Amino acid sequence: VKTIGVLTSGGDAPGMNAAIRAVVRTGISNGLNVKGIRRGFAGLLEEDIFDMNNLTVSDIIQTGGTILYTARCLEFKHEEYQKKGAEICRKHGIDGIVVIGGDGSFNGASKLAQHGINTIGVPGTIDLDIACTEYTIGFDTAINTAMEAIDKLRDTSESHERCSIVEVMGRTAGHIALWTGIASGAEYILTTEEYHGDIQRIINKIQDRRRIGKKNHIIVNAEGIGNSAEMAKVIEIATGVETRATVLGHIQRGGNPTCKDRVFASAMGAKAVELLCEGKSNRVVGYKEGEFVDFDIQEALAMDKGLDPFLWHITKKLTTR
Ligand code: ATP
Repeated sequence: VKTIGVLTSGGDAPGMNAAIRAVVRTGISNGLNVKGIRRGFAGLLEEDIFDMNNLTVSDIIQTGGTILYTARCLEFKHEEYQKKGAEICRKHGIDGIVVIGGDGSFNGASKLAQHGINTIGVPGTIDLDIACTEYTIGFDTAINTAMEAIDKLRDTSESHERCSIVEVMGRTAGHIALWTGIASGAEYILTTEEYHGDIQRIINKIQDRRRIGKKNHIIVNAEGIGNSAEMAKVIEIATGVETRATVLGHIQRGGNPTCKDRVFASAMGAKAVELLCEGKSNRVVGYKEGEFVDFDIQEALAMDKGLDPFLWHITKKLTTR
Protein backbone atom coordinates (compact mmCIF):
# COMPACT_ATOMS: atom_id res chain seq x y z
CA VAL A 1 0.00 0.00 0.00
CA LYS A 2 1.39 3.40 -1.00
CA THR A 3 -1.54 5.77 -0.85
CA ILE A 4 -4.52 5.54 1.46
CA GLY A 5 -7.77 7.45 1.62
CA VAL A 6 -9.91 8.27 4.62
CA LEU A 7 -13.60 9.13 4.76
CA THR A 8 -16.37 9.54 7.32
CA SER A 9 -19.84 8.21 6.51
CA GLY A 10 -23.28 7.91 8.12
CA GLY A 11 -24.08 9.99 11.21
CA ASP A 12 -21.29 12.15 12.62
CA ALA A 13 -19.87 11.46 16.07
CA PRO A 14 -17.54 13.39 18.38
CA GLY A 15 -14.08 11.82 18.13
CA MET A 16 -14.20 11.27 14.37
CA ASN A 17 -11.66 14.08 13.96
CA ALA A 18 -9.31 12.36 16.40
CA ALA A 19 -9.59 9.19 14.29
CA ILE A 20 -8.94 11.10 11.04
CA ARG A 21 -5.89 12.74 12.62
CA ALA A 22 -4.57 9.35 13.74
CA VAL A 23 -5.07 7.86 10.25
CA VAL A 24 -3.22 10.75 8.62
CA ARG A 25 -0.34 10.89 11.09
CA THR A 26 0.15 7.12 11.35
CA GLY A 27 -0.01 6.87 7.56
CA ILE A 28 2.55 9.60 7.02
CA SER A 29 4.89 8.24 9.65
CA ASN A 30 4.66 4.81 7.94
CA GLY A 31 5.73 6.43 4.64
CA LEU A 32 2.28 6.54 2.99
CA ASN A 33 0.51 9.32 1.13
CA VAL A 34 -2.85 10.12 2.66
CA LYS A 35 -5.84 11.56 0.83
CA GLY A 36 -9.00 12.88 2.43
CA ILE A 37 -12.34 12.12 0.80
CA ARG A 38 -15.12 14.56 1.68
CA ARG A 39 -18.76 13.59 2.41
CA GLY A 40 -18.33 9.82 2.53
CA PHE A 41 -19.12 7.67 -0.48
CA ALA A 42 -20.97 10.61 -2.09
CA GLY A 43 -17.72 12.61 -2.17
CA LEU A 44 -15.83 9.58 -3.49
CA LEU A 45 -18.20 9.36 -6.46
CA GLU A 46 -17.82 13.14 -7.01
CA GLU A 47 -14.02 12.82 -6.71
CA ASP A 48 -13.96 15.32 -3.87
CA ILE A 49 -10.50 14.11 -2.90
CA PHE A 50 -7.55 16.13 -1.55
CA ASP A 51 -4.06 15.56 -0.19
CA MET A 52 -3.71 15.56 3.57
CA ASN A 53 -0.62 16.16 5.66
CA ASN A 54 0.29 16.58 9.32
CA LEU A 55 -0.76 20.22 9.21
CA THR A 56 -4.24 19.60 7.78
CA VAL A 57 -5.08 17.64 10.91
CA SER A 58 -3.50 19.86 13.53
CA ASP A 59 -5.80 21.42 16.14
CA ILE A 60 -8.70 19.06 15.40
CA ILE A 61 -8.38 16.37 18.07
CA GLN A 62 -10.47 18.47 20.47
CA THR A 63 -13.27 19.32 18.06
CA GLY A 64 -16.59 17.56 17.49
CA GLY A 65 -18.04 16.83 14.04
CA THR A 66 -15.84 15.72 11.16
CA ILE A 67 -13.56 17.93 9.08
CA LEU A 68 -14.23 15.54 6.17
CA TYR A 69 -17.99 16.12 6.40
CA THR A 70 -20.30 13.15 6.20
CA ALA A 71 -23.23 12.13 4.05
CA ARG A 72 -25.52 9.28 3.23
CA CYS A 73 -25.20 8.09 -0.36
CA LEU A 74 -27.95 5.72 -1.38
CA GLU A 75 -26.49 5.24 -4.88
CA PHE A 76 -23.56 3.43 -3.33
CA LYS A 77 -25.80 0.48 -2.53
CA HIS A 78 -25.84 -0.32 -6.26
CA GLU A 79 -23.00 -2.26 -7.81
CA GLU A 80 -22.36 0.10 -10.74
CA TYR A 81 -21.56 2.90 -8.27
CA GLN A 82 -19.41 0.63 -6.09
CA LYS A 83 -17.40 -0.28 -9.21
CA LYS A 84 -17.16 3.39 -10.13
CA GLY A 85 -15.95 4.17 -6.58
CA ALA A 86 -13.19 1.57 -6.88
CA GLU A 87 -12.18 2.94 -10.30
CA ILE A 88 -12.01 6.48 -8.89
CA CYS A 89 -9.75 5.17 -6.10
CA ARG A 90 -7.43 3.60 -8.67
CA LYS A 91 -7.44 6.80 -10.76
CA HIS A 92 -6.24 8.74 -7.69
CA GLY A 93 -3.69 6.06 -6.79
CA ILE A 94 -5.61 5.09 -3.65
CA ASP A 95 -5.02 1.43 -2.86
CA GLY A 96 -6.36 1.40 0.70
CA ILE A 97 -9.27 3.17 2.42
CA VAL A 98 -10.22 3.74 6.04
CA VAL A 99 -13.99 4.10 6.41
CA ILE A 100 -15.13 5.66 9.68
CA GLY A 101 -18.84 5.08 10.28
CA GLY A 102 -21.49 2.59 11.31
CA ASP A 103 -22.74 -0.77 10.03
CA GLY A 104 -24.11 0.74 6.80
CA SER A 105 -20.74 2.31 6.03
CA PHE A 106 -19.01 -1.03 6.65
CA ASN A 107 -21.26 -2.59 4.01
CA GLY A 108 -20.03 0.08 1.60
CA ALA A 109 -16.42 -0.55 2.65
CA SER A 110 -16.83 -4.25 2.06
CA LYS A 111 -18.13 -3.60 -1.46
CA LEU A 112 -15.04 -1.53 -2.25
CA ALA A 113 -12.91 -4.41 -0.96
CA GLN A 114 -14.74 -6.77 -3.32
CA HIS A 115 -13.76 -4.46 -6.16
CA GLY A 116 -10.08 -4.56 -5.30
CA ILE A 117 -9.52 -1.66 -2.88
CA ASN A 118 -8.20 -2.67 0.54
CA THR A 119 -10.62 -1.37 3.16
CA ILE A 120 -10.69 -1.15 6.94
CA GLY A 121 -13.73 0.04 8.91
CA VAL A 122 -13.51 2.06 12.13
CA PRO A 123 -16.66 2.12 14.30
CA GLY A 124 -17.87 5.72 14.49
CA THR A 125 -21.36 6.14 15.93
CA ILE A 126 -22.76 7.60 19.13
CA ASP A 127 -25.26 4.71 19.30
CA LEU A 128 -22.86 1.89 20.36
CA ASP A 129 -24.92 -0.36 18.10
CA ILE A 130 -22.04 -2.20 16.43
CA ALA A 131 -21.94 -5.78 17.62
CA CYS A 132 -18.24 -6.60 17.28
CA THR A 133 -17.06 -3.88 19.64
CA GLU A 134 -17.64 -2.74 23.21
CA TYR A 135 -16.78 0.84 22.24
CA THR A 136 -17.76 3.08 19.32
CA ILE A 137 -16.39 6.55 18.65
CA GLY A 138 -18.66 9.25 20.09
CA PHE A 139 -20.67 7.15 22.53
CA ASP A 140 -18.79 8.43 25.57
CA THR A 141 -19.23 12.08 24.64
CA ALA A 142 -22.90 11.57 23.75
CA ILE A 143 -23.77 9.92 27.05
CA ASN A 144 -21.98 12.63 29.01
CA THR A 145 -23.85 15.33 27.08
CA ALA A 146 -27.17 13.58 27.67
CA MET A 147 -26.39 12.98 31.34
CA GLU A 148 -25.63 16.66 31.93
CA ALA A 149 -28.86 17.65 30.17
CA ILE A 150 -30.87 15.23 32.31
CA ASP A 151 -29.25 16.58 35.49
CA LYS A 152 -30.41 20.06 34.47
CA LEU A 153 -33.90 18.85 33.67
CA ARG A 154 -34.10 17.15 37.05
CA ASP A 155 -33.47 20.47 38.84
CA THR A 156 -36.42 22.16 37.20
CA SER A 157 -38.56 19.04 37.28
CA GLU A 158 -37.98 18.84 41.03
CA SER A 159 -38.82 22.51 41.64
CA HIS A 160 -42.11 22.11 39.80
CA GLU A 161 -42.83 18.62 41.17
CA ARG A 162 -43.14 17.35 37.64
CA CYS A 163 -42.61 14.18 35.72
CA SER A 164 -40.09 14.59 32.89
CA ILE A 165 -39.74 12.28 29.95
CA VAL A 166 -36.34 12.68 28.31
CA GLU A 167 -35.87 11.13 24.90
CA VAL A 168 -32.29 10.22 24.09
CA MET A 169 -30.80 9.07 20.78
CA GLY A 170 -29.64 5.57 19.87
CA ARG A 171 -31.78 4.72 16.86
CA THR A 172 -33.14 1.22 17.44
CA ALA A 173 -30.67 0.48 20.26
CA GLY A 174 -31.11 1.34 23.93
CA HIS A 175 -27.46 1.71 25.01
CA ILE A 176 -27.57 5.50 25.38
CA ALA A 177 -30.86 5.24 27.32
CA LEU A 178 -29.47 2.56 29.61
CA TRP A 179 -26.22 4.35 30.42
CA THR A 180 -27.70 7.83 30.84
CA GLY A 181 -30.63 6.43 32.79
CA ILE A 182 -28.30 4.79 35.29
CA ALA A 183 -25.97 7.80 35.44
CA SER A 184 -28.73 10.31 36.07
CA GLY A 185 -30.59 8.18 38.58
CA ALA A 186 -33.70 8.01 36.39
CA GLU A 187 -36.76 6.40 37.94
CA TYR A 188 -37.62 4.63 34.69
CA ILE A 189 -35.48 3.58 31.76
CA LEU A 190 -37.34 2.61 28.62
CA THR A 191 -35.25 0.80 26.05
CA THR A 192 -36.29 -0.60 22.72
CA GLU A 193 -35.04 -4.01 23.79
CA GLU A 194 -37.01 -4.21 27.05
CA TYR A 195 -40.04 -1.92 26.81
CA HIS A 196 -43.10 -3.37 25.15
CA GLY A 197 -45.62 -0.56 25.47
CA ASP A 198 -46.80 -1.26 29.01
CA ILE A 199 -47.45 2.37 29.99
CA GLN A 200 -49.90 1.33 32.69
CA ARG A 201 -47.01 -0.10 34.70
CA ILE A 202 -45.27 3.29 34.62
CA ILE A 203 -48.48 5.05 35.61
CA ASN A 204 -48.96 2.66 38.54
CA LYS A 205 -45.39 3.21 39.72
CA ILE A 206 -45.72 7.00 39.53
CA GLN A 207 -48.93 6.80 41.57
CA ASP A 208 -47.33 4.46 44.14
CA ARG A 209 -44.35 6.77 44.55
CA ARG A 210 -46.47 9.89 44.81
CA ARG A 211 -48.26 8.20 47.72
CA ILE A 212 -44.96 7.70 49.56
CA GLY A 213 -43.91 11.31 48.99
CA LYS A 214 -41.81 11.26 45.81
CA LYS A 215 -42.21 14.64 44.15
CA ASN A 216 -40.54 14.31 40.76
CA HIS A 217 -39.93 11.55 38.26
CA ILE A 218 -37.47 11.20 35.42
CA ILE A 219 -38.23 8.79 32.62
CA VAL A 220 -35.42 8.21 30.12
CA ASN A 221 -36.95 7.07 26.85
CA ALA A 222 -35.00 5.60 23.94
CA GLU A 223 -35.33 7.09 20.45
CA GLY A 224 -36.44 3.71 19.10
CA ILE A 225 -39.55 3.90 21.29
CA GLY A 226 -40.08 7.60 20.61
CA ASN A 227 -43.57 9.00 21.07
CA SER A 228 -42.46 10.95 24.17
CA ALA A 229 -44.97 13.81 23.78
CA GLU A 230 -47.85 11.40 23.43
CA MET A 231 -46.62 9.38 26.40
CA ALA A 232 -46.42 12.56 28.51
CA LYS A 233 -50.08 13.36 27.77
CA VAL A 234 -51.22 9.86 28.71
CA ILE A 235 -49.24 9.90 31.98
CA GLU A 236 -50.46 13.40 32.92
CA ILE A 237 -54.10 12.51 32.34
CA ALA A 238 -53.84 9.22 34.24
CA THR A 239 -51.81 10.48 37.23
CA GLY A 240 -52.68 14.17 37.47
CA VAL A 241 -48.92 14.86 37.67
CA GLU A 242 -47.75 17.59 35.29
CA THR A 243 -45.63 15.76 32.71
CA ARG A 244 -43.33 17.27 30.09
CA ALA A 245 -41.42 15.64 27.27
CA THR A 246 -37.98 16.81 26.14
CA VAL A 247 -36.32 15.36 23.06
CA LEU A 248 -32.57 15.97 23.40
CA GLY A 249 -31.92 15.39 19.69
CA HIS A 250 -28.78 16.37 17.85
CA ILE A 251 -27.00 18.13 20.72
CA GLN A 252 -26.00 14.58 21.66
CA ARG A 253 -24.00 14.31 18.45
CA GLY A 254 -21.95 17.46 18.94
CA GLY A 255 -19.45 18.99 21.32
CA ASN A 256 -15.83 18.46 22.21
CA PRO A 257 -15.05 14.76 22.52
CA THR A 258 -14.29 13.38 25.97
CA CYS A 259 -10.81 12.19 26.81
CA LYS A 260 -11.89 8.58 26.28
CA ASP A 261 -13.30 9.34 22.82
CA ARG A 262 -10.12 11.17 21.80
CA VAL A 263 -7.83 8.39 23.00
CA PHE A 264 -9.88 5.43 21.73
CA ALA A 265 -10.54 7.11 18.37
CA SER A 266 -6.80 7.78 18.04
CA ALA A 267 -6.01 4.13 18.81
CA MET A 268 -8.60 2.83 16.35
CA GLY A 269 -7.50 5.18 13.55
CA ALA A 270 -3.88 4.15 14.04
CA LYS A 271 -4.80 0.46 14.21
CA ALA A 272 -6.70 0.75 10.90
CA VAL A 273 -3.59 2.08 9.15
CA GLU A 274 -1.43 -0.64 10.67
CA LEU A 275 -3.82 -3.26 9.32
CA LEU A 276 -3.61 -1.70 5.83
CA CYS A 277 0.20 -1.72 6.08
CA GLU A 278 0.05 -5.45 6.91
CA GLY A 279 -1.87 -5.95 3.64
CA LYS A 280 -5.19 -6.66 5.39
CA SER A 281 -8.55 -5.77 3.85
CA ASN A 282 -12.28 -6.14 4.53
CA ARG A 283 -11.66 -5.85 8.29
CA VAL A 284 -13.23 -3.69 10.98
CA VAL A 285 -11.46 -2.46 14.11
CA GLY A 286 -13.09 -3.21 17.46
CA TYR A 287 -12.41 -3.04 21.19
CA LYS A 288 -13.03 -6.24 23.12
CA GLU A 289 -12.02 -7.34 26.61
CA GLY A 290 -9.44 -4.59 27.01
CA GLU A 291 -7.80 -4.90 23.60
CA PHE A 292 -8.01 -3.26 20.19
CA VAL A 293 -8.79 -6.08 17.78
CA ASP A 294 -10.10 -6.60 14.26
CA PHE A 295 -12.74 -8.76 12.60
CA ASP A 296 -13.77 -9.73 9.10
CA ILE A 297 -16.48 -7.22 8.06
CA GLN A 298 -19.07 -9.89 7.16
CA GLU A 299 -18.49 -11.74 10.41
CA ALA A 300 -18.77 -8.47 12.33
CA LEU A 301 -22.02 -7.52 10.59
CA ALA A 302 -23.53 -10.93 11.35
CA MET A 303 -22.92 -10.63 15.11
CA ASP A 304 -25.78 -9.80 17.50
CA LYS A 305 -25.65 -7.20 20.22
CA GLY A 306 -28.04 -6.75 23.10
CA LEU A 307 -27.95 -4.49 26.13
CA ASP A 308 -25.30 -5.29 28.70
CA PRO A 309 -27.18 -7.90 30.77
CA PHE A 310 -25.60 -6.96 34.08
CA LEU A 311 -26.30 -3.25 33.63
CA TRP A 312 -29.88 -4.07 32.77
CA HIS A 313 -30.13 -6.38 35.76
CA ILE A 314 -28.96 -3.69 38.20
CA THR A 315 -31.23 -0.99 36.80
CA LYS A 316 -34.24 -2.98 37.95
CA LYS A 317 -32.99 -2.55 41.50
CA LEU A 318 -31.52 0.93 41.24
CA THR A 319 -34.61 2.51 39.73
CA THR A 320 -36.90 1.27 42.49
CA ARG A 321 -37.50 4.10 44.90
P1 ATP B 1 -25.01 5.51 11.59
O1 ATP B 1 -25.01 4.34 12.53
O2 ATP B 1 -24.45 6.72 12.18
O3 ATP B 1 -26.32 5.76 10.89
P2 ATP B 1 -24.14 4.07 9.24
O4 ATP B 1 -22.81 3.93 8.60
O5 ATP B 1 -24.82 2.80 9.69
O6 ATP B 1 -23.96 5.12 10.41
P3 ATP B 1 -25.95 4.37 6.99
O7 ATP B 1 -26.76 5.54 6.56
O8 ATP B 1 -26.63 3.08 7.23
O9 ATP B 1 -25.12 4.87 8.26
O10 ATP B 1 -24.82 4.10 5.88
C1 ATP B 1 -23.94 5.13 5.46
C2 ATP B 1 -23.66 4.98 4.00
O11 ATP B 1 -23.00 3.72 3.75
C3 ATP B 1 -24.88 4.95 3.08
O12 ATP B 1 -25.38 6.23 2.80
C4 ATP B 1 -24.29 4.30 1.84
O13 ATP B 1 -23.52 5.22 1.12
C5 ATP B 1 -23.35 3.26 2.45
N1 ATP B 1 -24.04 1.97 2.55
C6 ATP B 1 -24.99 1.59 3.45
N2 ATP B 1 -25.42 0.35 3.23
C7 ATP B 1 -24.76 -0.09 2.12
C8 ATP B 1 -24.76 -1.31 1.37
N3 ATP B 1 -25.55 -2.34 1.68
N4 ATP B 1 -23.93 -1.38 0.30
C9 ATP B 1 -23.13 -0.37 -0.04
N5 ATP B 1 -23.08 0.81 0.64
C10 ATP B 1 -23.87 0.95 1.69
